[in-house]
Amino acid sequence: MLIDFHAHVQDDDEGTRADEMVREARRIGIDYIGISEPVTHSRDSLEIVQRQNDLVFRTYERHPDFFIPLVYTHANLGQAALDEVHKGFDRGARGIKMEVATVITDKCVEPIIEEAIARDVALLQHSWHKVTGNYPFETDGVHCAEIGRRYPELKLVMAHISGDNRWGIRAIRDVPSVYTDCSGSIADYGHIEYCVEQLGADRLLWGTDARGADFLYTLAKVRDSHLSDEAKAKVLGLNAAKLLKVV
Ligand SMILES: [Zn+2]
Repeated sequence: MLIDFHAHVQDDDEGTRADEMVREARRIGIDYIGISEPVTHSRDSLEIVQRQNDLVFRTYERHPDFFIPLVYTHANLGQAALDEVHKGFDRGARGIKMEVATVITDKCVEPIIEEAIARDVALLQHSWHKVTGNYPFETDGVHCAEIGRRYPELKLVMAHISGDNRWGIRAIRDVPSVYTDCSGSIADYGHIEYCVEQLGADRLLWGTDARGADFLYTLAKVRDSHLSDEAKAKVLGLNAAKLLKVV
């Protein structure tokens, strides 16, 4: 089972990009792709959230046997943010995605977290630790760790190993309920093996961040690593299958 837990399509009106992505992913052997369509720097716009979600659900409806949608929201929009999440689940969402509209520890995120817990779905949170300083409202691994401690029943996924492998791994190492994904172009020497050594194979999910990163490049980081076959199977698909309830 090969599941890309973290990707984006940004399809056009004709469905060209979705079709192309499905073709290429199937050629490589990918069984499912979890998709969302977040945007950066638009925290006050409900319209953008709705437009991006409409895009992701149209892509899902075009290839319902292949794409697994995550509904995207800006928690700072209050009830409207929660309404958008409800609408997303009505259209088939199997998880929630948040990016940089709010830091996950902000009070306004609590209803979204509680919704994820009540529905028993994954909450995928963009996380990055930048040497140049984070964007305003951008979540870091330490924020994910704090939420994981506060809500141990939440299935929280800290995206990108927080952008800085050693920082991100250290941040969540002693919070066993928090998962991470290795999506994106980050590829320090030995970081996949280090991540599994520190967190265990049950907490790492393979993701690409396509279209922003290449399928084969990101796949090779795990498939051709020094992990055991059992650990590779978990990271490449079995862990995501549990979180996304793929049977
Ligand atoms: Zn992403």
